[in-house]
Amino acid sequence: MEKYTIQDFNRLFPDDDTCLEWLRKKLYPGKIFCPDCKKPTKFYRIKGRKVYGCDLCGHQLSPTANTIFDHSPTPLKLWFYAIYLMSSTRCGISAKQLQRELGVTYKTAWRMFHQIRSMLGNGSGLLSGEVEMDETYFGSRKPGKRGRGAAGKTSVFGMVQRKGNVKAIVTGDLKRTTLYPIVKEHILPKSMIYTDEYYAYRGLPQEGYGHKRVRHAAKIYVSGDVHTNTIEGFWSLLKGGISGVYKAVGKEYLQNYVNEYAFRYNHRKDEIPMFITILDRIRSQQC
Ligand SMILES: [Zn+2]
Repeated sequence: MEKYTIQDFNRLFPDDDTCLEWLRKKLYPGKIFCPDCKKPTKFYRIKGRKVYGCDLCGHQLSPTANTIFDHSPTPLKLWFYAIYLMSSTRCGISAKQLQRELGVTYKTAWRMFHQIRSMLGNGSGLLSGEVEMDETYFGSRKPGKRGRGAAGKTSVFGMVQRKGNVKAIVTGDLKRTTLYPIVKEHILPKSMIYTDEYYAYRGLPQEGYGHKRVRHAAKIYVSGDVHTNTIEGFWSLLKGGISGVYKAVGKEYLQNYVNEYAFRYNHRKDEIPMFITILDRIRSQQC
């Protein structure tokens, strides 16, 4: 991936105004439909304010409306810088680090993180070809039932296309009725799926998938192309990241963290810098 340096960042986004204009151009390229004039008109920047006004009637529009920046008192440049920091480190940074770098409160840094991560969800593309599937756990370190169904833990179900993308989803449980709809939503029929011997996976051929199982119980981890090393590699990235950087992650925020790691994994070989890819995800979410 092309390195996107802090100099590049400062050149492109020297101040709040540049960030706002960038946002306006991205979300409202060309003429903007004015709800008062009921037609596309030109909007101009209103000096000293974070809004644009209709050339004809003066109707005001804020480019930050309905974006992750909406109603935030934090300057836009700091938001953009937070995105830059998140995208320029290999394994992510913590809210504590962000707090120090931006000079904001911990609470603000944490909320910014949460908002930025909310844009990094699973892409819509389907996985196909050779796909590995597995599950892992987060949560209490209490000893107890090992593996599936372990009490007090949160399960994450993962699917990865070899040499392709990963999708990882926090699930309440790992029952067949929970997993199969997810599998069908994300994996193209007739793909070859590699799993371990977990019983819930046994019905995959009936769902139209090829299926090969690794015999972990027999201490066989790789047999030719039959292995789950790719998804296990992703789990170790995820676990290393979360324990090293984020420490304890609340259950309700786990999906957001998982998304960040899946996003990093899926864009690891991109030519486009990750910073630009994240900026590109900024949307105006009308609700
Ligand atoms: Zn107007």
